[in-house]
Amino acid sequence: MTGQLDGRIALVTGASRGIGCELAEHFAAEGAHVYCVARTVGALEELDDRIKAKGGSATLVPLDLLDYPGIDRLGAAIHERHGKLDIMVANAGMLGVLSPIGHIEAKTFEKTMATNVTSVWRLIRSLDPLLRKSDAGRAILMSSGAAHSAKAYWGLYAATKAAMEALGRSWANETMNTALRVNLVNPGATATRMRATAMPGEDPKTLPQPRDVAARIVPLALPSLQETGRLFDVRENRFLDVHMPG
Ligand code: NDP
Repeated sequence: MTGQLDGRIALVTGASRGIGCELAEHFAAEGAHVYCVARTVGALEELDDRIKAKGGSATLVPLDLLDYPGIDRLGAAIHERHGKLDIMVANAGMLGVLSPIGHIEAKTFEKTMATNVTSVWRLIRSLDPLLRKSDAGRAILMSSGAAHSAKAYWGLYAATKAAMEALGRSWANETMNTALRVNLVNPGATATRMRATAMPGEDPKTLPQPRDVAARIVPLALPSLQETGRLFDVRENRFLDVHMPG
């Protein structure tokens, strides 16, 4: 590793497993201090052990992102300790259910929206002032190809990711003249628990592994990044779209 993130303060949600866990490890290996957010304490502790074994540092944040005041308290704690945040990755998410739209339970619809959209808005609301205090704030919102397709039975998940992308693009336009850069990522099919739930018949060995996917996302956190308001496609390893100012 090259210490590309030495001294940077990063926050990754959904750090207990899958893509977020690997991203937190990559950031720490590059020298960042990483706030690792998720509900599963045991998995966060295992991540902390791996980070420390490689000489990195992390703060574990056992938090349910549906606890919105908890998100505000997290922002206040980072403000008190560092006065800024350099990198925010809104990666935590849930699939909800693959189902005909008319058959989705109200509770499932509301929880999936709350997890994938409302909590991201609350993170932005709480952390935007801290990211603006950084000399090169970087925000990464984890989307999905589903946001741009209209596959049968994927309507709930697709709607949440499309809504999150809209928030992210508006935020990028609001912050265009600042040092903050806001981008969306489509990781593509990745061998994680979420993917296994969506595609139970699939052999995970045939899919890209979370570690390799995360490695391709790291450059979006670097101070040298110029792009904002754009969608990075991990499989293609490039930005696919053109930024459209609001
Ligand atoms: P996983 O299911 O492996 O991990 C999801 C993570 O989100 C876990 O760390 C989980 O932690 C966390 N999380 C979920 N709900 C909450 C909550 N209420 N509060 C706090 N943390 C929560 O998913 P992936 O790694 O596959 O997905 C990561 C992101 O990438 C997601 O946004 C997903 O939509 C997106 N994506 C994934 C694809 C894939 O093929 N894997 C394809 C396209 C997009 P815990 O349970 O410990 O709280």
